[in-house]
Parts: sequence; C-alpha cells; structure tokens
Amino acid sequence: MTQSEANPVKGRIAVFDEPNAFLDIKETSIPPVGEEEILVKISACTICGSDLHTITGRRIEKTPTILGHEIIGHIAAIGGDYAQDYSGHQLSVGDRITWSVCISCGQCKLCESGIPQKCASVKKFGHEVLDGDSGLLGGFAEYVLLPASTSIFRISSDVPDEVLCPANCATATVAAAIRQVPIVSNKRVLIIGAGMLGISAIAFVKTKGASQISVIEPDDDRNKLAFAFGAAHVADNISKISERFDIIFDFSGSSSAIEQAVSAVDLGGTIVLVGTVAPSPAISLDPEFVVRNLITIIGVHNYHPMDLKTALDFLVTHNKDIPFDQLVEKSFPLADINDAVEFALSHKPIRVMIKP
Ligand SMILES: [Zn+2]
Ligand SMILES: [Zn+2]
Repeated sequence: MTQSEANPVKGRIAVFDEPNAFLDIKETSIPPVGEEEILVKISACTICGSDLHTITGRRIEKTPTILGHEIIGHIAAIGGDYAQDYSGHQLSVGDRITWSVCISCGQCKLCESGIPQKCASVKKFGHEVLDGDSGLLGGFAEYVLLPASTSIFRISSDVPDEVLCPANCATATVAAAIRQVPIVSNKRVLIIGAGMLGISAIAFVKTKGASQISVIEPDDDRNKLAFAFGAAHVADNISKISERFDIIFDFSGSSSAIEQAVSAVDLGGTIVLVGTVAPSPAISLDPEFVVRNLITIIGVHNYHPMDLKTALDFLVTHNKDIPFDQLVEKSFPLADINDAVEFALSHKPIRVMIKP
C-alpha cells in the first residue's frame, strides 16, 4: 500500500537533450510509487558545476536526462508499508530529506568492501536517462522518485534550503576529502580552488583547528569569500606561495597546479586530489621526492553515505557562525531555469538555486 498526502499524477521536468541548447520544460506523468520507493516533492535544487559542464558540452552525459543532483525536498509518497532512513529511523510522508547522490546495489564486491560510491552498478541522481516517465532521478523538476536502495537522511526544518541544498554533492565530497586526513589540528593547510568545495573545505579545516589556512584562487569575489570562511592568506597562483604545507587539497583539477603542489608539501605531508574529474594532462612526479619526504597522495571521488551524514551535521552545527547561506547568490523558479543557467554561466556565482 502506498502512503501519500495526495496523489500527484503529473509534474514538470526540465529535460536536457543536447549541449548548448535550452532545457525543455514539459509535463510528465508521475508513475505509481513502487515497493520501497519514495516520491519526493522537490523544495530546492542547486546548480552544480558539473551540471554546467554538461550543459556547455565540456562533459558528455547520456540523453535525454533531467540534470540536477543537489536536491532537498519533502516526502510526498512512500511505496509499501515502511521506509527508513540511512540510520534506520522510520520515514513518514512530509519528512524533509536529502540523500546520497550515488545509488549503490549494496551487494557487489565494491559495496561490500566499503566503497559503495564506486558500486559496479552505480547510478547517480541527475545523470541517468529519462525514458518516458521512468527515470525521474533529476533535481530540475517538481518531483524525484527515489529507488529502494537510496541512502536517505532526514534534515532539520530550521536550517535554510540555501545552506543544506549543496550538502549531498559539494559538502559531502569535502567531508570525504577531510576524512582522508585524520589530524588537521595544528597543521598548515593549502586549499587550491575556492569554489563551493574549496570554500567548504576552508570551513571544515578552520573548525578542526588548522594552524594556517592558505588558498589559491584567482577570482576576486571568491577570494573575499575565502577570507570570510577563515582563510588567512589567499594568492592567485600557486607559484606565488613559498612556504611548505602539511596538507594540500586540490579542488581545481588543474594539472599544473597539482604538479606545483607536490613540491609545496612538507616532510610527512599529504596531498588529497579531488578536482580532477575530466581528462587532464598528465603531470611529472619525482618518485624520489615522494619517497624521501614520506609524501602521501590520495584520490577522492564521490563519497560514502556516512560522509553525507558528516556534512549535514557540520552544516546544522555551524550554519549560524559560518555564512554558508551566502553561497547561493540567487534563486529562480523552475519555469525560468534557462535564465538561471545563463546567470550561472555569466556571473559565475558559487551556487544558483532552482525552487520549483
Ligand atoms: Zn555536483
Ligand atoms: Zn554495489
């Protein structure tokens, strides 16, 4: 039996068909909610950098699709008698929730070895083919249909959409990156790239007691945000940095910056690579330098559902003392999504929000 407030039969979606073309807003029928599936009425979806890369053709996506994966909403219907969140608590119609971007099977070798984010049959919200009314998995829409194995988290009602919406992509990925370096207290940290991830990382390492936070970011507006979030020093290029660091996070994906970062890491230091998610030039690496200086280099892609829990707890704890709400510069209704994309591309704010 399906539990629901009312039975939505139709909802609007914004369909991505090809790069550099307008998203096509249309109405689609909402399929019946299957056993253990959850229908969510979307309250907000922020436009991630990867959505823009797809829209502009820098990144190839299966089509047609509904983009958008940084989503929060309220449960509109639950398929079957019972549903639970990731922590095992019962979910009810009306609950405010978000969920892991990755949908993992929970049974393959990779899931069983603790990296469900690399599941052999992983699917991702905002990245799957729309086939008729099947595949309501994107956030640029009124409704999204969560498959049975989605890792769901309830979120408190007193934290604004602007703060929580980017959690299930950007903030959770940063939490996964921070998890790679168990000790941040009294460490000198360099963060390359002050977009949504880099800015969030500044906040994380600041609260964990980093002794020095330096940032590489060429954009003036983002420099100001870096300082507002706790950076002590910002430079526009890594070649202008002469000190050494204990921990370096790369969120820029720039091969040349990463190559220079290797020589900026101090004895026993760690470099965490996060930003390189598109084919990029290879870098040269002096293995003797890595060996003699006990350097650790770690890659982070996607995240474990527990990282999303860490991210949500962090945002709930710090949303009053760290200005996360300033990262969403403007909101648009779903009907104006093409204006929202245009604004995001031309003004390059940290985030733009769609509120259906
Ligand atoms: Zn994203
Ligand atoms: Zn799996």
